[in-house]
Amino acid sequence: MVHRPQSLQEALALKRTLGVRGVPVAGGTDLIVGVRKGRPAPPEMIDLSRVPGLDGIEHVGDQLRIGAMVTHSRLEAMDLGALAAACETVGGPQIRNLGTIGGQLGTASPAGDVSVALIALDATVELESVDGRRTMPLCDFFVGPGRTVARPDELLLSVTVPLNRRSAFYKIGKREAVAISLLMAAVSVDDKGQVAIGVGCAAPVPLRAREAEASLRTHGWSAESIDAAAALVSAEVRPISDHRGSADYRRAMAGVVVRRLLTQLWRDGVEGTSRIGAEGARGTA
Ligand SMILES: Cc1cc2nc3c(=O)[nH]c(=O)nc-3n(C[C@H](O)[C@H](O)[C@H](O)COP(=O)(O)OP(=O)(O)OC[C@H]3O[C@@H](n4cnc5c(N)ncnc54)[C@H](O)[C@@H]3O)c2cc1C
Repeated sequence: MVHRPQSLQEALALKRTLGVRGVPVAGGTDLIVGVRKGRPAPPEMIDLSRVPGLDGIEHVGDQLRIGAMVTHSRLEAMDLGALAAACETVGGPQIRNLGTIGGQLGTASPAGDVSVALIALDATVELESVDGRRTMPLCDFFVGPGRTVARPDELLLSVTVPLNRRSAFYKIGKREAVAISLLMAAVSVDDKGQVAIGVGCAAPVPLRAREAEASLRTHGWSAESIDAAAALVSAEVRPISDHRGSADYRRAMAGVVVRRLLTQLWRDGVEGTSRIGAEGARGTA
């Protein structure tokens, strides 16, 4: 059965009544495509497309709050560094026109390109149930492949990113377009030089490379410290081998890609430019 709530209150009441059986549907590019490929259809679907207020993008101080129903194609058109670059690499135009931020985070895929960019941007997520709202860092939201800390009665409302960061994203796939990532990473640096590093397809969840970040904090920016941080990233990741690539290849490329991104941001900082263009954001294995 498909429920079509007309307000957030109605959607949350449905989620409370239906619990895990009530599966939210945003763009449907993951859910419905999966059902067409033979996954069992959810017994009860909650179509979020008529719920007002979930597709807004608003400035809140020096942050940007992005509603769960905002599509990849809207974000790729904005000047948002790694986030725009990651959105630009998702599927083809049809997928980006339908696929949403909420759906991307809801799938909790270790191969979610936009999730990795958001991890590197130190994003926070906002969840709501009839009992109230809570926020948390995105890196605490993911638990494992397809699993998040969202309770059965909660909906994802929005994700918030700081705007005071330069950032960059790079994805390696089997081909340049409409390819699930083999390995991808994103890096951001704030106006005090603090770095955040996200890596995807490298662990059960999109990974924050904390040891590499701490090393850069301790040693500052130089060619040597970037090399050391990249080596730590290769040591921190826990990739698997699958039909797209081996664990060894992914581990090696995690270091290579992060070194490239850190070097680019370091040079951009010196030269005063602010973002790596999406056109430079992908390569093939
Ligand atoms: C051909 C193809 C190519 C693709 N290429 C890529 C790619 O290159 N990179 C990539 O990262 N992804 C890719 N994807 C995956 C997918 O398109 C994205 O993950 C997309 O962001 C999913 O968004 P959606 O709105 O369609 O989600 P949906 O399919 O509607 O939902 C996905 C999951 O999120 C949950 N959900 C949705 N909204 C909410 C909410 N507000 N609160 C709580 N739970 C919610 C749903 O219940 C479901 O479990 C591809 C998919 C296809 C079919």
